[in-house]
Amino acid sequence: MNQSVVSGIGNVYKSEILHLQHIHPETLVAVLDDAALLSLRDRAVFLMKRNLNNGARTTRFCGEASRLWVYGRRGQPCLKCGTIILMQRQGDNARSTYFCPACQKRVSYV
Ligand SMILES: [Zn+2]
Repeated sequence: MNQSVVSGIGNVYKSEILHLQHIHPETLVAVLDDAALLSLRDRAVFLMKRNLNNGARTTRFCGEASRLWVYGRRGQPCLKCGTIILMQRQGDNARSTYFCPACQKRVSYV
């Protein structure tokens, strides 16, 4: 979310991209390897380009009713695995982050 590093990835994209990449929202950037970071960036670029039409922001392009995978879906079943979507607040502004605890496993730091 640091806009001085990469700009344009807002709160909705944050939740959606982490879900699509199977990354738990509390994962430290330092534990992601270069391939994972590049994949995150590529996914962000792809989704932002696909949404340049000024229509409703969409990250799910299968034509079904839900246009987002996790954002705003707290308490509803994950569209991939059926686990209940959770929401937690993070960062200085306590911004909401939505995620599936089954698809996005928490990394244990030892
Ligand atoms: Zn899931």
